Amino acid sequence: MTTYFLSDLHLDPARPAITELFAAFLDGEARQAQALYVLGDLFESWVGDDDPSEAGALVADRLRALSDAGVPVAFMHGNRDFLVGDAWAQRAGLRILPDPAVILLYDRPVLLTHGDLLCTDDVEYQAIRAQTRDPRWQAQMLAQPLAARLAFAQQARNASQARAAALREAGTMESITDVAPATVAEWFVRYGIDTMIHGHTHRPAIHELQVAERACRRIVLGDWFEQGSVLRASADGRFELSAL
Ligand code: MN
Repeated sequence: MTTYFLSDLHLDPARPAITELFAAFLDGEARQAQALYVLGDLFESWVGDDDPSEAGALVADRLRALSDAGVPVAFMHGNRDFLVGDAWAQRAGLRILPDPAVILLYDRPVLLTHGDLLCTDDVEYQAIRAQTRDPRWQAQMLAQPLAARLAFAQQARNASQARAAALREAGTMESITDVAPATVAEWFVRYGIDTMIHGHTHRPAIHELQVAERACRRIVLGDWFEQGSVLRASADGRFELSAL
């Protein structure tokens, strides 16, 4: 049996081939899964469960078909789709996990996180994150008309692109947008786990490291910009990260 983990699909009407690739994965290989975990940034943007995106409707149907076929699906919010709510989750037949969450994977505890919480060197980003995850901020946002929310999302994307350009210009993009090693080490200790799985940084890899004299593993999921990317975990403890 195999458990699947993926993240950072950034489904977007501008890249319909990726939505199709994901739909084909859900209708195909995923049917054999013991469980499927989507660790955030499934959508490039999400302004509330009345979001008019075609990808949202299509993916909800395919995810629902998968869970109806007996594959449990769990979803964790990313920094792009943190407004995915209970209504859409119900429609898609998935369970929303808190970030971080420790699950039992074949009887071993594994920590799951989107990954942005580990990027603590990016103080400016963490301040924005704290604001947009505040339930009062979210309630105010969701109370606005759809058109206003879509305009806000576009503005946020422009601001994020401008900031990325500024960081690239300053030569700090690589370091500031990656996880902070001290925070990673602290989480291994705090949560008492030796394996964590996250996305967000779009730097797929399996890192082996020593924390407090313990062998630990940090698995980073890949994005779905040029291809698909999945992590397969098998019952014998193996992890395989591959492109689709
Ligand atoms: Mn992200």
